[in-house]
Amino acid sequence: MSEMEAPQHLVTRFAPSPTGRLHIGHGYSALLAHDLARKSGGAFLLRIEDTDITRCRPAFTEGIYDDLRWLGIGWDGLLIQSTRLTAYDAALARLKALGVVYPCFCTRGDIARELAASLHAPHGADGPLYPGTCRALPADERAARIARGEPHSWRLDMGAALARTGPLIWTDDAVGAVPVDPLALGDLIVKGRDRPASYHLAVVVDDAAQGITHVVRGQDVFASTHAHRTLQALLGLPTPLYRHHALVVDAAGKRLAKRSAGLSLAELRAQGVDGARLAADLRENRFPVGISLG
Ligand code: GLU
Repeated sequence: MSEMEAPQHLVTRFAPSPTGRLHIGHGYSALLAHDLARKSGGAFLLRIEDTDITRCRPAFTEGIYDDLRWLGIGWDGLLIQSTRLTAYDAALARLKALGVVYPCFCTRGDIARELAASLHAPHGADGPLYPGTCRALPADERAARIARGEPHSWRLDMGAALARTGPLIWTDDAVGAVPVDPLALGDLIVKGRDRPASYHLAVVVDDAAQGITHVVRGQDVFASTHAHRTLQALLGLPTPLYRHHALVVDAAGKRLAKRSAGLSLAELRAQGVDGARLAADLRENRFPVGISLG
C-alpha cells in the first residue's frame, strides 16, 4: 500500500486559476483528486487561485463551477484566494522577520541582460535561475529604494532559508522521498510586484488552512514542491503527501493549455458531449482522439 492509500482522513483539493476555461487535462486532474478523497471517505475541496489580478476573470470562476458539476464532481468546501490576502501578508511578514526574503527591484529586462552577460548562468527546472542581483544589496539601499516607492517583488533567499531549516525532504507518491533541491527554482518570488502573493506562497498557506493531507496535481509543478516544502518548514506548516500525475497532451505531445482550441470542457459540453460519460472515460485513461497522457 502506498502512502497515498494509507487509511486516514484524506483531504484533497483541486486548485485551478480562473485565467481561462478548463480543459480535459484539468478535468482529469480534478477527477484524480476527487476520487482519491471519495474512495477513502475523505474530503475534496475546491480552491480558486485568483491572486493574479491582471489575468483572472469572475466569468472563468463561474465556468469552473459549471465544468466540475457537469463532470459530476461535487466539492465539500471552497476557498477563494482573493479573500485571503491578510493571511498571505502575515506569512510574508513572518518570512521577513526570519530574514529569509529580500526585495528585488529587477525588471524582466534587467534579469535577461544579466543572464545574457553571464557565462555560467545556473539553470533550474523552468530555465535559468534568478542571478541573485538584489540578494547582495545593502540594507540601507533596500530601505531607501522601498521608501522611494520603487516597484519591487520579494524573493525567497533559498540559501538563507535552507541554512535555517537544515536539509528537508518531501514525499512524492511515485518517486518516494525527495530531498529539497535549492536549485530547482532558485530564489523564487513569494510576492510579485502586482500580486498580493505568488502562487508558491499562497498555495502553501492555503494547503495548510484547508487541512490538505494529499496534494494531487500535474507533473508540471513537480519542481515547485521543493519551494513549497521549504516555505512550509519556514512557516511552521504541515507537509502534505504529493502525487504529481502525468499531463494530458495533444497529438504533437504538447501539454494542453487553456487557450487550446476545441478541448475546453465548455466546448465539449456545447458539442453535446455527456459529462458523466467523459468523466467515466477519463477515469479509465480514455481520451478523445489525438489526446493522451504524456
Ligand atoms: N493554480 C495552480 C494551477 O492551476 C495550482 C497548482 C497546484 O495544484 O498546486 O496550476
